[in-house]
Amino acid sequence: METDDYLPIYALAEWHFCPRSAFLSWFGAEREDRVSPAYQRMRDFHVVSNEPARRDKEHHKTETAVRLLHRELRITGRADAVEWDGEIPVPVEYKNCPDEPPRHIVAQVTLQGLCLSEMFAVTVPCGYIFRAAERRRVVVVFTAETRAWVQAGVTAFRAALPTGLAGFKQVRQPGCAGCIYRLHCWPEEWHHV
Ligand code: SF4
Repeated sequence: METDDYLPIYALAEWHFCPRSAFLSWFGAEREDRVSPAYQRMRDFHVVSNEPARRDKEHHKTETAVRLLHRELRITGRADAVEWDGEIPVPVEYKNCPDEPPRHIVAQVTLQGLCLSEMFAVTVPCGYIFRAAERRRVVVVFTAETRAWVQAGVTAFRAALPTGLAGFKQVRQPGCAGCIYRLHCWPEEWHHV
């Protein structure tokens, strides 16, 4: 495995949920999707934002399906949307999540913000998580600490790649019950849980 390859943001964000599922998603392992009505609504939002487009409303420009790149970190990804606040691009991610977004979703938006910051040579102060089920947005403020935290995650992910699966530890947690990769983790008697 080449450790200087560009790494995808979706897997780097997943690292903060569980390194094992992050590796499996990066590797393209077989997954078992469970489609709840809330999850389907979120997927519908993603379909809307799948095509690159631009709309202008009250002097604010919004672009969808924006390709992202950070040359120094060697990471790449896509923002569901980018809202422009004057010269400042603000990433927007559509998700099903609680009022208090989990760490890996915060990490995802923060990584998107880092990319936009480098791409447009501006400081991006925050991003939004649009909670699809409630149609409400949560502000994620990018601090020096959160930027350093996600950059450390990129370094750790890259450093683990030469050892393959063994370098990505399992984090057993309540979220395992809904994990799309749990068939790779849990013994058969737990599959019904
Ligand atoms: S089932 Fe749990 S330990 Fe296994 S990949 Fe998923 S979250 Fe990680």
